[in-house]
Amino acid sequence: MGRRLEDDIQEILYGTEEIVHRVAELGEAITAHYRDSGRELLLVNVLKGGAIFVADLMRAIDLETSVDFMAISAYGPSSDEIGVVRILKDLEEPIADKDVLIVEDIIDTGLTCNYLRQSLASRGPASLEICTLLDKTVRRIAEMPIAFSGFDVPDLFVVGYGLDYLQRYRNLPYVGVLKPEVYFG
Ligand code: 5GP
Repeated sequence: MGRRLEDDIQEILYGTEEIVHRVAELGEAITAHYRDSGRELLLVNVLKGGAIFVADLMRAIDLETSVDFMAISAYGPSSDEIGVVRILKDLEEPIADKDVLIVEDIIDTGLTCNYLRQSLASRGPASLEICTLLDKTVRRIAEMPIAFSGFDVPDLFVVGYGLDYLQRYRNLPYVGVLKPEVYFG
């Protein structure tokens, strides 16, 4: 029989039930925050890691909401411009005069999200906020306001619920830490 994904997991940090519960709470907080805005709420999701989170989150938001996707790639460590990212796929619609909520799977140093936030801010949204499932606050370099945050995650490399290691483990229904031998063979 083939090796199971969960055999590679050392520890589960946030189990399925805990995530479901927290996503429901985030949905309620977002609903309350935007209920009286009178504008369209657009969720801007960053592929690929954020796809599973946004799919669950938008079903927990009790408002008229649309979703659009961006794909970005960070330049490698050899780049002179740390924190500059390349937009691989841009939004399909303009965001001017909309309430825009960036939905991220994880914010680590914050450099990627900070770049994205500045890029979107220049397009004239009515408001611009950030929602992240996981927040690695200890590693933050680029400070930015995060309006909605699921879990304050310790300084560990995590996978599951959308997050990958070499494109694998995104389909784990929880967030966990890999066994060291997965990295070091
Ligand atoms: P930043 O350091 O710019 O905030 O994070 C950039 C990206 O690094 C995140 O969007 C995510 O793709 C990746 N990343 C950061 N920490 C982790 C982690 O613990 N696990 C996984 N799978 N990706 C991470």
